[in-house]
Amino acid sequence: MTAVDLGIPLVRRTTDTSARPDTTRLVDRFGRIATDLRVSLIDKCNLRCTYCMPAEGLPWLKRAELLDTEEMNRLIRIAVEELGVTTVRFTGGEPLLRQDLVDIIAATAALPSRPTTSLTTNGINLGGFAEPLVRAGLNRVNVSLDTLDRDVFKQLTRRDRLDDVLAGLAAAKEMRLEPVKVNAVLMRGINDHEAGDLLRFCIERGYQLRFIEQMPLDAQHEWDRGQMITAEEILERLGSEFALTPDVAERGSAPAERWLVDGGPATVGVIASVTRPFCAACDRTRLTADGQLRSCLFSTTETDLRGPMRAGAEDAELIRLWQETMWAKAAGHGMDSGEFAQPSRPMSAIGG
Ligand code: SAM
Ligand code: SF4
Repeated sequence: MTAVDLGIPLVRRTTDTSARPDTTRLVDRFGRIATDLRVSLIDKCNLRCTYCMPAEGLPWLKRAELLDTEEMNRLIRIAVEELGVTTVRFTGGEPLLRQDLVDIIAATAALPSRPTTSLTTNGINLGGFAEPLVRAGLNRVNVSLDTLDRDVFKQLTRRDRLDDVLAGLAAAKEMRLEPVKVNAVLMRGINDHEAGDLLRFCIERGYQLRFIEQMPLDAQHEWDRGQMITAEEILERLGSEFALTPDVAERGSAPAERWLVDGGPATVGVIASVTRPFCAACDRTRLTADGQLRSCLFSTTETDLRGPMRAGAEDAELIRLWQETMWAKAAGHGMDSGEFAQPSRPMSAIGG
C-alpha cells in the first residue's frame, strides 16, 4: 500500500491486511464499515474563520494538484458502485468555489446506486447556487453560521458577509434542501453568549442547529483545550434558556447527540468530538481535493490515489488501495493519549 508518511509517528495503525475478510466493503479491524464518503473538492476559501485558518490564507493547492472533474467522478463512482458507499458529502475549503461543483453533484446523483448527497458550505454563494444544485440532484445542505451579529461575524470570519450567508440559508430552505442543518462553533469571549439566540433563530426558520466542539485542526496550531467551549458548557448554557430532553431517536453513526427543545419537535445537536468521541461508531472515509485518501480527520498518514490514477491504474488497483487504507484505520483519534499529534493538514484541506 502506498501510504504517504506525513512526518508524524504512526499511531495504532496497521499495514497487515492478512486478516481482512474477503469483502468488497470498506471494513476495518474494529468491525466498522465505512459507508459515508466526505469529499473535499477544493482547499481554498472566501472566509478566514479564526479557528480554521490565518488571515492571509494558506498556500493553496495548485490547479494541477487538484483532481479534475473526471478524476473526482471516477473515484466517487468507485466508492459508490464498488465499495458500498451510500452517502456522499461534499465539502472543502469552500466547495461553492469549485467551478465544476454542479457537474460533480449531477454525476454522483446519476450513479445507478444513487447515494444520498449533501454539501457543507459557508453559505456565501448558496443564494445563487441553490436552484442549480437541486436540479443536479443534491439532497441537502449543512451551512456554517457561528453568529447572528454582523460585527462578531466580521471578527470571527474576517469578512463582512453575514447577509450573504443568511440569504444562502433562506434559499436552501426555499429550495427544500432539507433538513437544512446549521453548524456552529462557539469561541470563548467571542460568540459563546449567542448559543440561545442561534437556537431560537434556527427553530423559527425550521433549520436544525448543531454545535461543534472546536477541534485541534486549525492551520495555525493555536487550539487550546482549556479555551474550548465543551459540550457540557454548551448544554448548560442552553439549559438555562430551554428545557432539553434527550432525543431517544436512534443515533446510529451520527456524530451529533440530540436533544428535544421544550418538548420538541424542534431539536438541537451537539457534536462533542473532543470530550465525547464517537469513533467507535464512525462510518467515514475521506478523499481530499488532491486525491489523498484518509481514514480519519485526525489521520497522520494518507494514501495517494492521484499518482496511481495518473499513472494508469485500473479500477481494481484503486479499489485495493481504498480497502487497505480503511482496514488500517485506527480505533480512535486518541486525543486523550500522550501519543496524539495534530495532523499536518488543516481542516480546510482535509474537508470538515
Ligand atoms: N467552508 C465550509 C464551511 O465552513 O462549512 C466547509 C468546510 S469547513 C472546514 C466544515 C466545517 O468545519 C464548518 O462547519 C466549520 O465550522 C468546521 N470547522 C472548521 N475548523 C474547525 C475546528 N478547528 N474545529 C471544529 N470545527 C471546525
Ligand atoms: Fe472557510 Fe469553512 Fe474554514 Fe471558515 S471553516 S475558513 S468557511 S473552510
